Amino acid sequence: MPLPENTPRSKLEIAFLIFFIPIVIAFYLIYKYPLWFADSSDAFYLFGKQPSFWYMSLYTLLVSGTCLWLLVRNVNAYSIKKNPEPLNKYQKGKFTAIFFSQTFAFYLIPFVILPFMNGAEFWSDPAKMPVKTAHVYLWPAFTSVGVALYVFVFISVIVYFFGKRYCSWFCSCGNLAETVGVTPWGRRWVRKYTPRSEKSRKLEIIQRIWMVFAIITGIILLMDALNFAGAENVAGQVRATQDFITDLIFGSLIGVGFYPFLGTRIWCRYGCPLAGWMHVLGQKINTRFRVEANDKCRGIGQCTTTCPMGIPVEDFAHKDKQPIQGSFGLDESPCIGCGGCISACPTKALSFR
Ligand code: SF4
Ligand code: SF4
Ligand code: SF4
Repeated sequence: MPLPENTPRSKLEIAFLIFFIPIVIAFYLIYKYPLWFADSSDAFYLFGKQPSFWYMSLYTLLVSGTCLWLLVRNVNAYSIKKNPEPLNKYQKGKFTAIFFSQTFAFYLIPFVILPFMNGAEFWSDPAKMPVKTAHVYLWPAFTSVGVALYVFVFISVIVYFFGKRYCSWFCSCGNLAETVGVTPWGRRWVRKYTPRSEKSRKLEIIQRIWMVFAIITGIILLMDALNFAGAENVAGQVRATQDFITDLIFGSLIGVGFYPFLGTRIWCRYGCPLAGWMHVLGQKINTRFRVEANDKCRGIGQCTTTCPMGIPVEDFAHKDKQPIQGSFGLDESPCIGCGGCISACPTKALSFR
């Protein structure tokens, strides 16, 4: 049986890709910048609902539906064996967490329950501009006390105990990456197209640059909110730049549109300022999170091929197929704790500390 990463794209997949990129570009342009194409922000509402409602409905259907499919099927989605074993406890926990966070926290509560509780007419959304603010862009933590507490207190505690596991168990953007990455096509996109060269790892410095840019933006917006002289001159420009470059180009068009060409975690690895912050924080506070190799490694390399973050996992597990019982955490890698490498290893040579 050929390894999944060596299987060429099928005709159906190629046909899908021909439509995928133009649809992604057209959709995000209309969704994020409706006034480029129409006189009113509600011009693209469907059945009275704004595009974000329909986008999140589809998104949640895909994410939560995939989680349910995996949990009911109960088969290790990372294994290349012909008859894979059942999902382990960790993966069951992860996909259950993704199901509940996506279904309730990111969909039902904001898009269905709150509008009902506010007494709003459900099928008649008020005209309003799309929101381009998300806590993963980090700068909102400088302009909102709630986001600051969430990022600098809640997520920091998680980083201490679990490293960047937030990215594979809870984050809405990560939920899509995690679930698409275990579908038949997505598995191959991760395995075959995730950049894994030394150079690609050096380029992860881009994320630090993005994080610094986000922090500078946050400080400027905070100064503007506090009426510092001169801040208002640049606040609008940095905000517009963040909206266009970070939210539209990197976070959406590249972050989602390049799944089939660069794997599912390009944004998470090179863009996301929050991930940059979690990484730096994890190193500074010496997070307890680590992946460890035992003496069962046989140098098969499935761990490396499975990693959506391009981490050379096997380098910590063997040298010339002899086990070296190494380990890695956030000092050595951008690991998001998805557990894919652990589930993929046929000799059970890896585990979380
Ligand atoms: S890297 Fe950022 S966008 Fe990706 S899952 Fe983590 S927090 Fe979310
Ligand atoms: S840790 Fe497991 S998958 Fe990775 S090289 Fe060793 S035996 Fe192979
Ligand atoms: S090293 Fe393992 S746990 Fe970490 S991101 Fe890669 S596959 Fe996931």
